[in-house]
Amino acid sequence: MIVFDKVEKWYGDFHALRNVCETVTAGEVVVVCGPSGSGKSTLIRTVNRLEPIQGGRITIDGRDIHGPGIDVNGLRSRIGFVFQQFNLFPHLSAARNVMLAPMRVHRMPEAAAREAALALLDKVGLAHKADEFPPRLSGGQQQRVAIARALAMKPPVMLFDEPTSALDPELVGEVLAVMKQLAAEGMTMVCVTHEMGFAREVADRVIFMDAGAVLERAGPEDFFLRPQHPRAKKFVSDIR
Ligand code: ATP
Ligand code: MG
Repeated sequence: MIVFDKVEKWYGDFHALRNVCETVTAGEVVVVCGPSGSGKSTLIRTVNRLEPIQGGRITIDGRDIHGPGIDVNGLRSRIGFVFQQFNLFPHLSAARNVMLAPMRVHRMPEAAAREAALALLDKVGLAHKADEFPPRLSGGQQQRVAIARALAMKPPVMLFDEPTSALDPELVGEVLAVMKQLAAEGMTMVCVTHEMGFAREVADRVIFMDAGAVLERAGPEDFFLRPQHPRAKKFVSDIR
């Protein structure tokens, strides 16, 4: 369970997160949306300490992750993070990209790491591309490798920051299908995305942010059909 308790984030004198209070329970899929610059990426980046916070607390299963004595690398290995830009290592094959963290962090032997990587690539529909290098994969394939790579550390939580927005439209579906499958398997997921179809079908809850504050939280049906806050109404009508 991830709990944001009165979280405040400043970039210098710019107030990027304002009194964010949210709870993400185990197995829940939360979609974060809102206009550009509203703080969505900042919010999820605070969860694996890519960004420090200046007020409030974020706990995962009761542990204050910005508190003293937290092993940041250990924390990051338990949180899968998938970015808009896939950030694969171009000089490593798909399988090698997936094997890297388990071998480095968990000292997994190479043969076992490869076996696990092949199983994960199979899960994302890319068993046949295991020995291909990222520049020779489509964007959708690269993003699926990135998801497999994140899953290789067996994280209980996955964070997605607009994982499909750098993709050509015809490649979006294959990535969303993998995310849907993960959700169906009970993964705890926080997804920044404007994919309304995904949100409607998969999200347990939608959080709407504007100017660093959460202005609305609702089930997807209510959020998209009956937004309450004027800015949420405008946002929903603009993305239709
Ligand atoms: P987008 O939809 O465009 O990705 P976002 O909702 O993810 O936007 P953030 O990237 O979280 O927005 O940024 C929130 C605000 O914080 C923006 O006004 C941005 O300019 C500012 N910001 C983000 N990162 C930094 C930084 N490293 N230093 C200063 N300001 C920053
Ligand atoms: Mg962003």
